[in-house]
Amino acid sequence: MSHPDTTPLAEARDNVLSQLTPLGLSETVSVRQANKRFSAEDLVSHYDLPPSDNAAVDGFGIHAAFLAHHPDHAFRIVASARAGHPFDGVIKEGEAVRIFTGAMMPTGPDCIFMHEDCEESDGFVRCALPARQGMNVRPRGENLSSGEVLLTAGQKLTPAIIGQLSAAGVEDIKVSRQLRVAILSTGDEITAPGMPLKKGHIFDANAPMLSALVGADGHAIHDGVIVPDERAALVTAYKTALETADVILSSGGASDGDEDHTQGALRDSGADCLVWRLAMKPGRPMAVGLRGNQLICCLPGNPVAAFVCYKLLVAPLLDRLAGGKPHPAFTVRVAAGFSQKKRAGRAEYLRARIETDATGASVIQLHGRKGAGVISSLTGAEGLVELPLEAENIIAGQMLSFMPFQEIGI
Ligand code: AMP
Ligand code: MG
Repeated sequence: MSHPDTTPLAEARDNVLSQLTPLGLSETVSVRQANKRFSAEDLVSHYDLPPSDNAAVDGFGIHAAFLAHHPDHAFRIVASARAGHPFDGVIKEGEAVRIFTGAMMPTGPDCIFMHEDCEESDGFVRCALPARQGMNVRPRGENLSSGEVLLTAGQKLTPAIIGQLSAAGVEDIKVSRQLRVAILSTGDEITAPGMPLKKGHIFDANAPMLSALVGADGHAIHDGVIVPDERAALVTAYKTALETADVILSSGGASDGDEDHTQGALRDSGADCLVWRLAMKPGRPMAVGLRGNQLICCLPGNPVAAFVCYKLLVAPLLDRLAGGKPHPAFTVRVAAGFSQKKRAGRAEYLRARIETDATGASVIQLHGRKGAGVISSLTGAEGLVELPLEAENIIAGQMLSFMPFQEIGI
């Protein structure tokens, strides 16, 4: 059971996801420019890829069955085929074609011997190995067949998909229009980096960090202002941002103390509050509101909490709104290399690294200092480890969910 006033993360996420409608606006962009965008169309290949059987190596193309029956035969080299320069004639049994990687297979031969497996002299070639049909030949359509799916609407473009689309000759693609995300920092003590730091103030870590997170997820950023701890000022800032933005991410002022106004301002701006207080640490004070289909996310002020809430709650919401298929964070089960007590009723997301123990097994180790405001617990961490909602005692060796950060993958 989570604390009565708090909502488990997955429940909060599913609740908002079920109430969001994708923007449904699209534009056509060059495939080269489409990394991280969401496809707004289903595409199939109009070609077999590769379009023809072709050579996987440099060597000699011959008839495999003929060699099997005539192992000592000297094949006369009658033609040459290079990549982009096909040989249009026919290679008869007992003859060889000199062929280079990527060249289309001429009519006749069904296998290729590498140079190093042949003896060549005076225009003839002998092949040392037993022949196997299809050897060193890349068959037509081995990558994709004509009519096969390249990608479906809602899929996020990746470098590999951009390669595949380009291999299929696709130049432009219809994608969902980018989300416009306004990012606001709130708090009387928050000072923009580069400005003089007054007594009792701190620099704004959240807006630059959230901009980087949002940008890395492929959305467009409208960097906002720093708003003081006044409800009226926040309402004005929210309303102004909502004139152009699809989403507002504010940080700070998300609790229910005297100086915390984001939740009230969210309501005064005409939004319904769907989520308030999560059963998780860091990140308990967090509100999500909807005004029509415009999303307002009030993140906690502590930078680590803002980071964790963005990754685990906000990022999937943005994906859905942007026309994507949200998927749970990539998670692997790894044994804990530490023991820790915790309170039941809230999940904890701690900054962690994967290390190798004395037996050579991978284990999760906690990284850095603790605390929702301690950004140095994030820098150098490789991901988050989840201590489950109901657990009270984590024991070394227990299997836990580890969510690697995008940057540490290949
Ligand atoms: P709050 O959610 O406003 O109670 O803030 C919690 C803590 O996070 C306080 O110590 C704030 O000073 C700090 N904080 C709030 N906003 C930011 C920000 N933009 N950058 C760095 N720290 C912040
Ligand atoms: Mg504050």
